[in-house]
Amino acid sequence: SKAAQVAFKAVILGAPGSGKGTISSRIVKQFNVNHISSGDKLRFHIANKTMLGKEVQRYLESGGLVPDETMIALISTEIVHIDNHNWLLDGFPRTVAQAEALQKIHPVSLVINVDVPDSVIIERIKNRWIHLPSGRVYNVGFNDPKVPGKDDVTGEPLSQRPDDRPEIVQARLREYASKTKPVIDYYKKRNILKSFVGKTTDSIWPDIQIYAKKHL
Ligand code: ATP
Repeated sequence: SKAAQVAFKAVILGAPGSGKGTISSRIVKQFNVNHISSGDKLRFHIANKTMLGKEVQRYLESGGLVPDETMIALISTEIVHIDNHNWLLDGFPRTVAQAEALQKIHPVSLVINVDVPDSVIIERIKNRWIHLPSGRVYNVGFNDPKVPGKDDVTGEPLSQRPDDRPEIVQARLREYASKTKPVIDYYKKRNILKSFVGKTTDSIWPDIQIYAKKHL
């Protein structure tokens, strides 16, 4: 593979519950790239009660977005610490201001847009369980853990995200429509965005795989 020679600087976009987290894990597993999930990072800080965690908790609880300056500082630091320069950003950028900031420091080479109907998303989030320390995601009836309620790797208990409650999910979808959809247009104009439309992760994964391979 050419993975070691060419830098892979990618962004994955998708509504809450679109499956972008699951798709990211598959990309990371198959190709030699670092996964940077803004949501996982924030939840880690909240769980560990860091200063940043305390600052951002209320935004996650309400389904609103964390201020741009905070997110840009957090993600720039993460990217700087990556040695092989191959990364996949998941959950960032989420606003045009974040996309502009990223483009200035670390230009993006490809953007994967996961496009799933809202009706599918709402059903999916209801059945979602996560292992908080690792960010591993399970879906009841589709991607079940081997032992109900337990993480496959560590055996630790799974939990539901507090922001997966229906009224908070609505707020997250509204934030997505008003603030993140413009990011799609931002990358479209630069001809680096490709959309993958479907109802299930398995139905769009083969095309994403081919597309990602072309860029390595
Ligand atoms: P899913 O995990 O289902 O794809 P999501 O995209 O809403 O859903 P995360 O990316 O984990 O979930 O984000 C969870 C929350 O973290 C957001 O609702 C927001 O409050 C905060 N957040 C994460 N990334 C950003 C960002 N780039 N800018 C602002 N807030 C963010």
